[in-house]
Amino acid sequence: MRTQEIEGVCRLCHRHRQLKDSHFLPRALYKFCFRPEETSALYVSDSATWLSSTQVSQHLLCGECEQRFNQNGEEWTLWHCYRGKHFRLRQLLNAAQPDSVSDTMRLYSANDIPGLNIEALVYFAISILWRGAAASWRFRRDEIDGPIEIGPYQEPFRRYLLGMDSFPLNTAVTISVANFESPLLRALKFPQGSIADGYRTFLFNIPGISFMIFVGKKIPDEVMEFQAAGPGRFILLTDYEKYLAADIMFKLKTAKSIGKAPKLALWGGTSV
Ligand SMILES: [Zn+2]
Repeated sequence: MRTQEIEGVCRLCHRHRQLKDSHFLPRALYKFCFRPEETSALYVSDSATWLSSTQVSQHLLCGECEQRFNQNGEEWTLWHCYRGKHFRLRQLLNAAQPDSVSDTMRLYSANDIPGLNIEALVYFAISILWRGAAASWRFRRDEIDGPIEIGPYQEPFRRYLLGMDSFPLNTAVTISVANFESPLLRALKFPQGSIADGYRTFLFNIPGISFMIFVGKKIPDEVMEFQAAGPGRFILLTDYEKYLAADIMFKLKTAKSIGKAPKLALWGGTSV
């Protein structure tokens, strides 16, 4: 049995402290992904899909930094993501006037939506990618992934998360909210990276929200213009889940499936 705290150097503040059992993706998210009769969630990585009740965590942060992550990003994000009965972020967007509308998406500016704490969503997104880059993570008994390679952005991210610096240069966050009543895809997709010409992208999902983080000197202008951390403070309502579901179904067919076939875990879940 793992003890709850051990002593060590906190990866965020670099102080020697008691370290908490820190989660890669927040613990509360797992229950949004469980089906009523099960206590396992669907995980998706580049190479595998699997069902597990094991939460991905390790001793990484001190209590103060855990609290910092909670107050600056997680608390608001988790209250507003898809939770079964409630999907408060989608409600907020549907009650507001979009800046522009197309067949597949609606674009909103948080500048016009007083209740939308887009800074919390941005902070949350950066904190998740930073966690992936700050250490290797054990996803299953025999498999350790990472750390995610973000090169020179590691330290600016850390300073931003600590409140020592403003939002990092050459960085963008785009946020897509699922425009579905139900059912919704309930899977935890940990950050996965890809390389483009002059920049990198990292994608991850929590129930109802998809985050994409861009780093590099050649991030496309349209990404910089419509990102959540820019002056326009933009957020999208899209049917991204259709594409994500297709991607996950493809992975279920082609990637190594660990243990029990996870097909049924794509849909359904508890309401909290
Ligand atoms: Zn700390």
